[in-house]
Amino acid sequence: MYQTIVRDWRNEEVTLRHHKSPISARNLANDLPDEVIDLLLETCRKNTAVFERFFKLKARLLGMEKLRRYDIYAPVAKADKDYDYSKAAAKVLQSFGQFDERFARLAERVFAEDHLDAEVRKGKRGGAFCATSAPDLTPWVLLNYQGKTDDVATMAHELGHAIHSMLAEHHSLFTQHANLPLAETASTFGEMMLVDQLLAEESDAAVRRDLLFKQVDDAYATIQRQAFFSMFEKQAHQMVIDGASVDEISAAYMENLKTQFGEAVEVAEEFKYEWVSIPHIYQVPFYVYAYAFGQLLVLSLYKQFKAEGESFKPRYIQLLAAGGSESPMKILDDAGVNVRTPAFWQGGFDVLSAMVDKLEQMS
Ligand SMILES: [Zn+2]
Repeated sequence: MYQTIVRDWRNEEVTLRHHKSPISARNLANDLPDEVIDLLLETCRKNTAVFERFFKLKARLLGMEKLRRYDIYAPVAKADKDYDYSKAAAKVLQSFGQFDERFARLAERVFAEDHLDAEVRKGKRGGAFCATSAPDLTPWVLLNYQGKTDDVATMAHELGHAIHSMLAEHHSLFTQHANLPLAETASTFGEMMLVDQLLAEESDAAVRRDLLFKQVDDAYATIQRQAFFSMFEKQAHQMVIDGASVDEISAAYMENLKTQFGEAVEVAEEFKYEWVSIPHIYQVPFYVYAYAFGQLLVLSLYKQFKAEGESFKPRYIQLLAAGGSESPMKILDDAGVNVRTPAFWQGGFDVLSAMVDKLEQMS
């Protein structure tokens, strides 16, 4: 099936439509230049040491000599601290307000209009999301709030989405929504603001550890895992065209995992078939780098914010207020964010590396 999909993709996108390479077709759909995506993936490949260090630390805290691939998301600290709902809401608003008063006021609007459904009820769907239906309507937020630190972070995340939509509410129904590469900007940045605040005021080491572990766990799953899938896809598309067998493709996938985890994680033989179970690879070739792009972009922006302070804020607000009214590159350029340099993307990994430093010091 995969071989047929890859050949089809090549015939249509490269042979007929003359895209430079199989991934170029997706890059055009995302409105992102090939060089920027190459740079993103290259930076991820260069930074495998950050997560290797993280997994080694996790192994030590779990009392294992070496982490197995099965265990990489295992929880380490188990803080039993609960935040009651109104205290959590106040904390989120406070952390937004510390960044910019406008952010807090917009988030308050969601509460004031009773557009936030947080309670767990029988028959209610699980998870969390923010729904923006039209520019003249305050977005709706659904949560299933249960008082854990994670739940507070999710509240900040979904309210971040709502703020993004409200800052762009002067656009039309068709251009209000940020397009895919920028869609997680305000949500992830909102989480970072909250984490900063909680880390600064939280005296319970287990809570601090939980918070940092969650951030790095998420960053692994969203950035590094997805970037390595994309590298594999690039390779697999070429291999199929060169006539590779399924076994050869699986062997290449295993090599990809070894590059990704180095000596830090023991990868069992059956993981060579993992790629077979990733639906995106079949249904939407080269989709997954968008997750890595979005998340690393935010960490890099955050690094820029830390370096520049106040002068960063109006540019960041301008970026969000553009919604989906321009191409992502134009929006980023206009906000003075240069994603064409290796240093920008490295900045995101520097933030992660500093989190791992903190975790090492705590442990
Ligand atoms: Zn989100």
